[in-house]
Parts: sequence; structure tokens; C-alpha cells
Amino acid sequence: MPAETRLFLCRSDNYGVLLHDPESGATAAIDAPEAGPIEAALKATGWKLTDILVTHHHADHTDGIRALKEKYQCRVVAPAAEAGKIPLVDETVREGDKVSVGKLSGHVIETPGHTLGHIAYWFHADKLAFVGDTLFSIGCGRVIEGTPEMMWRSLCKLRDLPNDTEIFCGHEYTAANIKFARTIEPDNALLAAREAQAKQQIAQGEATIPVTIGDEKLANPFLRADLPEVAVGIGMAGKEAAQVFAEIRARKNKS
Ligand SMILES: [Zn+2]
Repeated sequence: MPAETRLFLCRSDNYGVLLHDPESGATAAIDAPEAGPIEAALKATGWKLTDILVTHHHADHTDGIRALKEKYQCRVVAPAAEAGKIPLVDETVREGDKVSVGKLSGHVIETPGHTLGHIAYWFHADKLAFVGDTLFSIGCGRVIEGTPEMMWRSLCKLRDLPNDTEIFCGHEYTAANIKFARTIEPDNALLAAREAQAKQQIAQGEATIPVTIGDEKLANPFLRADLPEVAVGIGMAGKEAAQVFAEIRARKNKS
């Protein structure tokens, strides 16, 4: 049976997501920004929390773990490289490891850059990827602990996922990301289309995610740093992709 998901806002602009296996009843929270909205989502769905899959150690992804673990005795899965910074970890995972949520099977993809141990969870049969603060809709996470080169390589790993993979990210940043992306690729018609779509979604109070990898490849400038037209557009013709990416990320930091 296919996986079910439920997406909801936490804190100010964090997303919480539940991943549910209808066959076994297992339910994972992807990160735990805060316990309250996760408990509300569990109540609304009638699902019982069995697992928390953590993408990285930042407090806005882990603050809810203690309260949820106490209430549900759920398993906490976290990146091996950051386990010491995350509370109540039961199981650590690395690149290539498999993670099960009931009968659902996911792969761990290491995506360092935002933090050094950041990971994503890819449930290939269900065409779902939970990417934390590495890739956003029309954006990417700040490079806080790693280097731009490292972040570029991580984004390329996510870009290599099948085009129909649905991406769940950690924040609702789409409107600001599109505004910035238009300064990098003002003539990208598909980006303009995404802007119109996002405006409509936001006006209707809807989430702008999930997004697909295929759509992101066509409009997210951070996934397009190796395209000659993007380099030319920002005055970096002939430069290496990682350098172009670093420049786009630096401009976003100042925007
Ligand atoms: Zn973060």
C-alpha cells in the first residue's frame, strides 16, 4: 500500500511532516520542530507515532523530540555524525543505510553543507524524499557548517533523484526564494510560472510544497549552477559550477 503523508506548519515557518504506512500503522515524524503541532496532526489522522527521523541537529528540527519520546516511546533515528547533538537517539544512520517505517523502506543520503552531518531520507518506492534544510522549493539551505563546494555536491545528489520524486523540505520559504531566483534568472519562464503558482497557493492559505525534483531542476537556480546560461547571467562565464553556486548562495545571503 502506498505511503500517506500529512504536512503542517510548526513554529513560525518550519514544516512538520508525518509519514504513514497504512499496512502496518507505523508513523514517522520527519524531524520534530515542536511537539504540539505534531500531536495535533496525530490526533487529526488517528495515527500513532512510532518513529522520528531526524535530518540534522538544529533546535528547530529537534526541540520536540523529548516530549514526543516520553509520550509515545517512539524510536529516534538520527545522523551518526550529529547523534551527540540530538536528544534521545536510538539508532544512528549513514550514507546508504536503510530505514524502515513499518513496511516502508527508505535510503539515507548524506547531504552535508547546512550542517556537517545533515542527511536526507529517500523512500524510493513511494517517490518521496525528506530533505530537511538542504534543498528548499526554489532555494537551498544556508551553508552554515560546511563549504559551498560540499553543499553543491549534496544538492547534486538530490538532483539525481528521479524527476517524479516529491520533495518535502523543512521550511516555507518559497515566496522569498522565488523573489531572489528571479534576480538570477529573470528570463526563466518556468520560474515565472512557479511564481504565479506559489502566489495562488499562498493566497489560498495552501502550502507550496511538496515540489518535484523535475520541476526544481527547471527553476531552482541553486540546482542550475552548472548551466552555462546561469553562469553567463551572473557574469561568471566559464567558471566551475561550485564557484557559480557559491556566488549565487552569497548573493542570497545578502538579499
Ligand atoms: Zn537547520
